[in-house]
Amino acid sequence: MISQNMMVPAIFLYIINYTRGKNMKIKIFFIIVIGVILLGGFYFWNNPVLLKENTVEVEVNSTFDPYENIRFVVLGNNEDVKVKGEVDVDKPGDYTITYVLRDKSKTANVNVRDTQGPVLKVQNKTVDLHEEIVPELFVSEAKDASEYELSFEKKPDPDTVGKQKLKVVAKDIYGNSTTKKVTVNRVKDENPPILNIVSDFKITQGVAEDIASKITVEDDFDPKPSFELDTSKLDIYTPGTYTVVASAHDRSGNSIDKAFEIEVLFNPEYAEKVVYLTFDDGPSDNTKEILDILKKYNVKATFFVTGHDQNHRDSIKRAYDEGHSIGLHSYTHDYANIYSSTEAYFADLQAVSDMVEGITGKKSDIIRFPGGASNTISANYSKGIMSQLVKMVADKGYQYFDWNVSSGDAEGNNIPKDAIIESSCTDSMNHINLLFHDSSPKDTTVEALETIIQYYKEKGYQFHPLTKDSYVVHHGVQN
Ligand SMILES: [Zn+2]
Repeated sequence: MISQNMMVPAIFLYIINYTRGKNMKIKIFFIIVIGVILLGGFYFWNNPVLLKENTVEVEVNSTFDPYENIRFVVLGNNEDVKVKGEVDVDKPGDYTITYVLRDKSKTANVNVRDTQGPVLKVQNKTVDLHEEIVPELFVSEAKDASEYELSFEKKPDPDTVGKQKLKVVAKDIYGNSTTKKVTVNRVKDENPPILNIVSDFKITQGVAEDIASKITVEDDFDPKPSFELDTSKLDIYTPGTYTVVASAHDRSGNSIDKAFEIEVLFNPEYAEKVVYLTFDDGPSDNTKEILDILKKYNVKATFFVTGHDQNHRDSIKRAYDEGHSIGLHSYTHDYANIYSSTEAYFADLQAVSDMVEGITGKKSDIIRFPGGASNTISANYSKGIMSQLVKMVADKGYQYFDWNVSSGDAEGNNIPKDAIIESSCTDSMNHINLLFHDSSPKDTTVEALETIIQYYKEKGYQFHPLTKDSYVVHHGVQN
């Protein structure tokens, strides 16, 4: 075998030998011909891939196949050539690719260029006097392979009312641009927004819902009309039908109000949680304010009243008329008297019962013992009287109620409001009988009340007035 390196000298030796004895001209001719063939062979040996272009111009976003740039492959096919290097035809730039065949390589420059203006579709617009006239308003479609900006050929006149002709220009970062004519018509908006409210609006008792999300507001010109909702009459905690008012205003000062009904549906799950607000010892200077708060939140409570304050008996009437329960606490609230004997107790109870019946027209059958059924103070006046009384009141057709949560306002007057709130708020039970005192010096009880009501509303409790059949809390009798 003759190695490749020995090939050229070997051919020369053969030619010299072959032309021996021939004349000089023929010798030189042969040497030149052979030399040209060898040089050509040498060139094509080192450059087996011949390209159409060493620099290829490619429009951005078009396609580019590097094999289409091959003119000829020496001793081979296009498929034998490997192409190295990447061209991103979506991104203008200068790229280099290399064609490789039999360890020989050839490079080409590929210049991806953006030479075309953006695609631009426009529409005419009618706008109100508050609209800022920007090119984007008119463009329904714009695209380009490169970044571009929209502008007006000439700035619009902001004072013109009516029609105005404009030219929208889209120009890309390579300076290619497209221009389109548009007309803007600036008019005064005289129509209010339109409120779309779902019909048959129902929500579930106790479940706070985003009512605003069920309402849409549109305007012919203002893209963001303002929108308000008046839900002050809505009580999501109590089943019923309520009127809510939606209002919308556009930027041109047109407005609309629309009243609609929301039905709050009974929710058995919600109804399982009940808080009974109970107020002992009233009426007092504070009863009116307590009633105002209860009214504000549309919640019902129970007043275990006494007879010793004759100045506020109208508050008992009001409480009854407003749907609260009136229970019997004691006429005198004098432990020494009422717990001296069962006879004394029932004489006092009869007095307060008559008083309530006289005011409300209705006999009360619910009781709260002064000090509760668990009081021990009664033992000072009559041993075992509470054990007798709890049986006797039942025999006479009454139900007595103690409490399972105390506001703590019995510990003294002006217990800090926050301490009362702290003691009163718990969701550890589904049925809460909450003890307050309605008495003139206990202003902090009144101050704490709103927060306590809000707490139980948020926790999903219903507020019920006590009746004889209500959930019963009885303390253990200790005397
Ligand atoms: Zn009391």
